[in-house]
This record gives sequence, C-alpha cells and structure tokens, in this order.
Amino acid sequence: MNVTIKNKDEIEKMRIAGKILKDALALIEQSIYPGQTSLHLNDLAYNYIIKQGATPSFLNYEGFPYTICASVNDQVVHGFCTDIPLKEGDIISIDCGVIYKGYHSDAARTFPVGNVTVEKSNLIQATKDSFFAGIEGIKAGSRLGHISHRIQQYLEERGYGVVRELTGHGVGTKLHEDPLVPNYGNYNSGIVLQAGMTLAIEPMSTMGKRYVFLEDNDWTVTTEDGLPSAHYENTILIKEDGVEILTL
Ligand code: MG
Ligand code: MG
Repeated sequence: MNVTIKNKDEIEKMRIAGKILKDALALIEQSIYPGQTSLHLNDLAYNYIIKQGATPSFLNYEGFPYTICASVNDQVVHGFCTDIPLKEGDIISIDCGVIYKGYHSDAARTFPVGNVTVEKSNLIQATKDSFFAGIEGIKAGSRLGHISHRIQQYLEERGYGVVRELTGHGVGTKLHEDPLVPNYGNYNSGIVLQAGMTLAIEPMSTMGKRYVFLEDNDWTVTTEDGLPSAHYENTILIKEDGVEILTL
C-alpha cells in the first residue's frame, strides 16, 4: 500500500480542483428537472470544466465514455448518460471528477427530479448525513475504520443497505490511490490517518437489500432488487486538527 502525503503546493491544486468540481455539480443541480437528459447534463459539466482550464477525470478513464456518471433510481454508480428524459419522481446520482494541474478531485451527489416520494427523499438525506457522521471528529491520528464503521452504523440503523463491492479511496495525482475506504467495517481497523492525506469518502446506500450486479455495459452497478440507491461523496483533506472538505 502506498498512501501519499500531499505537500502545501499539491493541496492548493487539489483545493482548486475541488472548487471547480463543486461548482460544476451546482451547475448540474440547477439543470435537473423532468424532461432533462443526462447527456445534456454531461455536456454542461464537460464545457464548464474545460472553461476553467481543467480536465474531466472520468472521461476516457479506463475507457469510461462520459464526463459524469449519471445513475438513475436503482443504478448505484457508473451509470451511462442517455437521451432518455428524466421523469418526475426519479432520483439521479451524479458523480464527477476534475483534474487541475495534475491533481484530481472526486465528488458525487444524489438529486431528486421534481417531487419524489418521502422514502426516496429520506434515502438521499441519510446517505448525505452518513458522510458527515463518518468524518465527525476525524483528524490526524484517527483510524480509517472510524469512518467506515460510522457510515455503516448510520445507514444500517436506519434500515438501509450499504454497498460493499465499491469503496472510497485515496485521491491525488491518480483518481484512485491507496487506501481503499470501505463503507463498512470495524471501528479500530485500517491505517492511522496522517495530515496531508487526501481521501474520497463516498457512502453508497440502498433502500432495500445491499446486493448489486454489473450491467451488460460492464460499468454500471445496479441493485439486484431494483430498489433505489443513493450516493454522496466528497474529497477531504486530513489535517492535524480536523478535516477540510475540498469539494464543498
Ligand atoms: Mg466519485
Ligand atoms: Mg470516488
């Protein structure tokens, strides 16, 4: 395992990569409504990122064909963009990454399309809240397992499934670096965090069972029982006295 510690200059580049990504996601959020297509959202994100002098992290990553992952309803992650109009009551998870001067940021949000059921709305909120429960009080010297365990506990206590096949990860000059950050596990497990580590923390939850399958496109991960899923992710920096969220 090779967990990198970023210096001041590297952190500054990651802050800028994070800000561009945060703004790209805000732009997408404004454009989500019934009738919109994920292909159009993809174009918005691509154009915005390029205009900032940055590059999309996902486009062509191991052959992935889009700037954003757009995962609708029972799709958990790595959804392909399509020209199928979004419908009132859908939920859509948008995952995106930005490279600025060689450094990546990575973040995801699940958005409602128009009015959604209370159950879907609660799933989105709990998934977001589990991220914050996971990082609460985390600083240099904390164990990675603190984050994993708290995310799992937060979601499972509320009756949601926690997807185990995909994890958070280190992030930096590469989109995916060591360590893996599972969304489940023992509290006192994993590496001891150090100041200067940068991690993508990304709970992926399901309304039903936690089991998933890979769609025929070899990318998209979807719930086996067809029930909705939500995703919430930010890139964070571990500091001596806490955590800085680079994509908020
Ligand atoms: Mg991501
Ligand atoms: Mg990620």
